[in-house]
Amino acid sequence: TNALKKRKIAVLGSRSVGKSSLVKQFIENHFMDSYYPTIESTFAKSVSYNGVEYDCHIIDTAGQDEYSPINAQYAIGIHGYVLVYSITSKNSFDMIQTVYDKIIDFCGLTDIPCVIVGSKCDLSSSRQVDMQEGLKLANRNNCAFVETSAKNDINVAKVFELCLQEIEKRTAPNQGD
Ligand code: GDP
Repeated sequence: TNALKKRKIAVLGSRSVGKSSLVKQFIENHFMDSYYPTIESTFAKSVSYNGVEYDCHIIDTAGQDEYSPINAQYAIGIHGYVLVYSITSKNSFDMIQTVYDKIIDFCGLTDIPCVIVGSKCDLSSSRQVDMQEGLKLANRNNCAFVETSAKNDINVAKVFELCLQEIEKRTAPNQGD
């Protein structure tokens, strides 16, 4: 059929790591310096990847801390995850494994389609997390990895391509339409 394949992607991570900025840059192609705490919102965009058109629904969450439960909303019907930390915040980096483990636990799975994102890579003078640490974390959890800047539009589209790639890797042919 010609129906677009629908893919739901949830964006999670600590507050103010740049989740909304990443999604905004991807959807609307612009960046704003002001900070507005996110209320959860969903955005839709059709993305062409590997010659296939995907109808992507991106859920920008309010942000998690170590006490935030991962509820059904972030588990049921979600195809892929984008877990964001800021390269300028070691705390936000440490939160990634916590959030990842909670998703795995809630879903009752050992492996989920996931991209780990080191955001704000334009702020290299304030870097607290080496790229190697990010890569290691991603490899350990069988996730894709990329560093981004929503401000300078570096690797923003790449995040969602990688996420679709991680989803498709785990989807058998002719399934998951
Ligand atoms: P969220 O709470 O994770 O959704 O974070 P926001 O997208 O609201 O961003 C938090 C703050 O970080 C805002 O002041 C943004 O302007 C800033 N920010 C987000 N992404 C970047 C980036 O790539 N580079 C820089 N320099 N600042 C960023």
